[in-house]
Amino acid sequence: MRINCISTGSSGNLYELLDSKGNSIILEAGEPRHTYMKHREATTAPEMVIISHSHGDHSFYANQYEMMCTVHRWKQRAESDNFKAFGFEVVHGDVLNYAYLIKFLEDDRFLFFATDLEYEEKSLQPIFKALKFHKVENFLIECNYNDYLYHLAEKEQRIGCDRHFSDNDLIRFIKKVGAKEPKIITIHGSERLSGDAYTKKMIKGRIPNATVAVSVGAKNGVKNLFKL
Ligand SMILES: [Zn+2]
Repeated sequence: MRINCISTGSSGNLYELLDSKGNSIILEAGEPRHTYMKHREATTAPEMVIISHSHGDHSFYANQYEMMCTVHRWKQRAESDNFKAFGFEVVHGDVLNYAYLIKFLEDDRFLFFATDLEYEEKSLQPIFKALKFHKVENFLIECNYNDYLYHLAEKEQRIGCDRHFSDNDLIRFIKKVGAKEPKIITIHGSERLSGDAYTKKMIKGRIPNATVAVSVGAKNGVKNLFKL
């Protein structure tokens, strides 16, 4: 599978997923359609768009994508010809938000996608169970801030952090899931409270078998593309 992180973070989220045959879907619609058209990898139309929750950095441009394909707005189930997604409700302030286990039908592989979530044990239990059951090893998952920067930060810089995963939350999560050699792409890093190199080192240090990449989105015409 290929994961094209076109844009990530609080200014806008847009991810393109492709299977081995080049079939694709889009996650989130926090950037306009022309941004997708400019950076996309697929040569055919996307099969669907899945949007996790209503915050603008994930959903603002949803209408623009309706001209191309079906757009699923915070739905528990989303299905297309070659992809199947099941949503788990996760805690993110008081907004309805889903994390998705996505099956690439053609390749018979799974990707777990989660962003904008709190480490709230009860809501995560069904996820731990499902990911263990399916032996999920691929993660496109939020790492919003580093706890050490959070502790150094001023009170106003910390606003909103409690609704997101920190590096330690992510590490705890991956350990609970029991992935043997997890492939982790972190998303939605905060500009103020996360350092890309530190994040990578921190996760690698705590989960030695992991392969870790920190996504930054397409920058200066260079794609932010990952192959898992
Ligand atoms: Zn949000």
